[in-house]
Amino acid sequence: MKNKQLIDYKEVLAKEVGFDPSEWKAMKELSIQMVSDMFDYMEQIPDMPVWAPTPKRVKSHFDEPIPTAPTSVEDVYKEFQQYVQPHAKGNLHPRFWSWVQGTGTPLAMMAEMLAAGLNPDVCTGDHAAMYVEEQVIEWLKTLMGFPESASGILVTGTSMANLTGLLVARDGHTDQKVRELGLHNYQSQLVLYASSETHICITKAADIMGLGQNAVRIIPATKDYKMDIELLAKTIQEDRMKGYQPFCVVANVGTVNTGAIDPLEEISMICKQEELWMHVDGAFGAFALLVPEFQQELQAMSKADSLAFDLHKWMSLPFGTGCLLVRDKRLHRQAFALQPNYLQVHERGVAAGPEPIFNYGIEMTRGFRALKIWMMLKEQGIKKIGKVIRQNIAQTYYLQHLIETEPLLEMMAPVTMNIACFRYNPGHGIEEERLNKLNKEIVMALQEEGTASTSHVILSGRYGLRIANVNHRSRKEDFEILVKAVVRIGNIAKHQIYNV
Ligand SMILES: *Cc1c(COP(=O)(O)O)cnc(C)c1O
Repeated sequence: MKNKQLIDYKEVLAKEVGFDPSEWKAMKELSIQMVSDMFDYMEQIPDMPVWAPTPKRVKSHFDEPIPTAPTSVEDVYKEFQQYVQPHAKGNLHPRFWSWVQGTGTPLAMMAEMLAAGLNPDVCTGDHAAMYVEEQVIEWLKTLMGFPESASGILVTGTSMANLTGLLVARDGHTDQKVRELGLHNYQSQLVLYASSETHICITKAADIMGLGQNAVRIIPATKDYKMDIELLAKTIQEDRMKGYQPFCVVANVGTVNTGAIDPLEEISMICKQEELWMHVDGAFGAFALLVPEFQQELQAMSKADSLAFDLHKWMSLPFGTGCLLVRDKRLHRQAFALQPNYLQVHERGVAAGPEPIFNYGIEMTRGFRALKIWMMLKEQGIKKIGKVIRQNIAQTYYLQHLIETEPLLEMMAPVTMNIACFRYNPGHGIEEERLNKLNKEIVMALQEEGTASTSHVILSGRYGLRIANVNHRSRKEDFEILVKAVVRIGNIAKHQIYNV
């Protein structure tokens, strides 16, 4: 049998081409230059403004249509230097504390290059990248106090890790019935519990899983932004009486607004009594386990059935690096395993080797995320990583001290860990609405002048500045500069807003 051939192969094969450079030497020299330039750039960052608004001419540069003909690599790189590099987000700077964003490291940058150079698909096969990832998962299990028998997978971030963990929870709880038959054939409506301070990606996960956003029962937080345990227990009982089927409680280790840690021991006891899955979102906070003073409070984190965390936040690695750990490897596998005939593990050859990683998650083809984690852990060792994390917490306490001794500033929530929420308040009983406007102006003006970058936070309707300190480049003086700048900008903005 022969299909009609759509292409004249003789003509094509007479002029074969590829994407490698025609001159390796020139490409190599340019690449060495790129590395050298990037190191110079990193070194100069502390002396540059944190951020500046992207100019119009830069924005419009990206309106060009898709290139049809080739451009020389020298020109492509020049464009990068002109239009991309100088207009960065600012998160490598010592005074960037917006959102919760990692700051990167030089070695991690190189690790990304090496990983992309080898460019293995870390899904199946007998090749070193698979074993590096296995080792990294083993290390992360140890680091987070999970047992030998646990399993884990590297994913793009905590949103993905949370979704993956909740799928394991759902399928374990329903004995794989939902996985086989679909939710619409399942006997009752599944619900899960999370505090009002929980990251929005949990609601998104419930939506993606087909449970619906309302399946996330929002348990109000107490005054210190932790889950109200009594309300949790009560809501579970009420849901059972109404015929819902509770299956999971999401506990926070480091909430996004204030860095609060939910009462883990109590949640773990409720989960045990009620036979619910305990999932922990420890996106950044899980790493506080490396700090001796936090180990007691975080002890019950290792009792969780699954734990999601990022390596691109407090571990300072490039973005796209999250992890999920699951206590019961069998349940983890059952939630995702399929046996397509094109992925049979063979006795020999490149298709021998470990079980395909896609049996433990959503993605199929996966990059070599593990290399940067592996290299960073070797380069720094967990003792030093713990020391830097402890330093970030101490710096946040110091900032709290600076704010409390500055009459024009006030704290808005207690500092639990590495997050501080505060605002400018000149007193005289200014109405809340105006104060909100004033503090919003400060956040924007501070970013625009490039002195520092903070996020904003809204707590009980009050708008304030929020810093999340996962920055290994920040030093004591940076917080002093921040406080001075906020007061200075506040004093100017006050006159503009109040016409005083
Ligand atoms: C950042 C964050 C997430 C989401 O993680 P991504 O890596 O951005 O997907 C979830 N929960 C908390 C508490 C976070 O801080």
